[in-house]
Amino acid sequence: MPAANHIHKYRRLEFKNGNTSYDCVWCPHMLPISRMEGRQSICWECEQPFEITKKTLRYQKKPKCEICTGSVKEREPDLINELKERLTSEGIEKEQDANS
Ligand SMILES: [Zn+2]
Ligand SMILES: [Zn+2]
Repeated sequence: MPAANHIHKYRRLEFKNGNTSYDCVWCPHMLPISRMEGRQSICWECEQPFEITKKTLRYQKKPKCEICTGSVKEREPDLINELKERLTSEGIEKEQDANS
């Protein structure tokens, strides 16, 4: 168990009355979901601290960092490369049309 001054490791609690809160697995700390955005939490996968976002709160009962969930930041370069490839192949086709 981490020291008293730790970064909380949150997990989602869903109550029968419809309320959703997050509590720390190590200590009695608990917050309603409305106050979770922007908080630091420990990732359930890599145990590193990260910032809770709206996306985390929406999809994850045991919050993981962006790296472990496969972040948007990592996917973006692939998308851009794909677009570039498409543009390039289109350009070649057009050149061939012009020559024939
Ligand atoms: Zn805690
Ligand atoms: Zn992680």
